[in-house]
This record gives sequence, C-alpha cells and structure tokens, in this order.
Amino acid sequence: MLSDIDLERYARQAIMPDIGEEGQERLLAARVLLVGAGGLGSPAGFYLAAAGIGHVSLVDDEHVEISNLNRQILHTTDSIGTAKVEQAARTMSALNPGMTVEPVLARLTDSNADALVGAHDLVLDCSDNADTRYLLGATAHRMGRPLVFGGAVRTEGQLAVFQSGVEGYQDTPCYRCVFPDAADAGLAPGCSEAGILGPVTGIIGAMQALEAVKLLLGFGTSLTGHMLLFDGRHGSFMDITTQRRADCAVCGSDSGPESGPDST
Ligand SMILES: [Zn+2]
Repeated sequence: MLSDIDLERYARQAIMPDIGEEGQERLLAARVLLVGAGGLGSPAGFYLAAAGIGHVSLVDDEHVEISNLNRQILHTTDSIGTAKVEQAARTMSALNPGMTVEPVLARLTDSNADALVGAHDLVLDCSDNADTRYLLGATAHRMGRPLVFGGAVRTEGQLAVFQSGVEGYQDTPCYRCVFPDAADAGLAPGCSEAGILGPVTGIIGAMQALEAVKLLLGFGTSLTGHMLLFDGRHGSFMDITTQRRADCAVCGSDSGPESGPDST
C-alpha cells in the first residue's frame, strides 16, 4: 500500500494505466545500480529519484570539477571538489527524501563488479570509458541483469538495452556483440577531447531512466536488440536492429558453460 504522501507525490504517474499504484509500489521496491555520476548519470539519476525508485546505488570515483558543470546537473558550483557520488546522493535525496541513495566512491573493477551488479535488479551504464563498459556488459550478462546503455559525445548519442543473460532473451545481443572492438565502444574519442553539449547527455540520460522504468514494470517495448542513434545537430533519431554474434567473446556458444550444439 502506498502511503498518503506517496499517493500525492506519484499521483501523476500512478494514474497512468501502465503504472498504477501497484507499479509504483514495484518502483519503490526496486534496486537500480547507476554506474557513472556524470553527464548521463545526472539526468538518469534525477529522473530515477523523481520517479520513486526505492534504492539507487551510485558508482563513481571522481570529484566534481568546474568543467563538468555544463552537463552534470546533479552537481553545483558549490560542490566543486566534492566526490561526485556524495553530491549526487545529496541532490537526489533532496528531490526525494523517501528513497535510499547509496554512494559508492570507487571504480567498477573485476573485484567489485559481481557483488554490485548482483545486488541490484537492473544496471544503468552511464560511464565514460571502454574498460568500465566492457566489464559492465560482461558482468550484467553473466549475472542475468538488464543493462541500459547510454553514450554521448558532441551532439550525438546512443541508447540500447542488453538482456542477453535474462531468461527469455538469450537470443538477443550482449554489449560485446554490438561493440566487439574497443575502438567501437561508446563513442570514441571521449568528451574531454571531442566535447559534449549538455542537452545531448540530458536526452540520452533521461531516456535511460525511461527504459529502466519500463523494464522494471514490464510495459511498452524496450530497446532490447536495438540501438537508438540520436543526431542532435538535426534533431533526428535512427533505430537500428542489432544481432547476437555466435563468436562473441562474452555470450557466444564457445564462451560460457552453456555449450553450443557441437559440444558433447
Ligand atoms: Zn555477446
């Protein structure tokens, strides 16, 4: 049962047939892992907090710099020098004191990835480097968690959902299927060399939050098996279908305990 204050706070979304009070209760019970409290993590985290996701863990090891502030809207000028996860947690809690925000001041590594991913229902990749993206992609596949991927540079963005480790979606691609080589991962070069415009990360990060809510509640059609490309210069989206690769290093038939048809 939603409390009276929650009925008021979430009235405009709980009134929707896709959500309802029951859906809102599920959002309040959900645990989401958000990796990267920067340009994508800011809008994603803001909207997850506003929507009433009950628990969000934030993973990032950086501190707020003045050059972050054209896009990283969870942070403020006063918070320069503060750990991003601490400031992000403060901002999200101020918006929604009813939720739990757990700051994890660390990089995602081989030694913490399984425990972090495994302790959550769903993962958002709002990171900015290939190492983290590949690790998160492989871990989400192995642990059977949906992964909402976002990337942005200059005026271009990418969005996709990977559920290759989730029951019923084993024929859909994992992150590595779509980005087999490091040169393709995210959008190279990075923001510091190529630049990034804040509203572009705003659009992609907000859409990551939307995909997360849809996956948690099971309504609509997710971007599983699709990659949405956003061209901010012309205000256009392109939806491309992505495929599983039989020779994928992460989910291919030779890579895991589930053997291919040729094995005995
Ligand atoms: Zn794969």
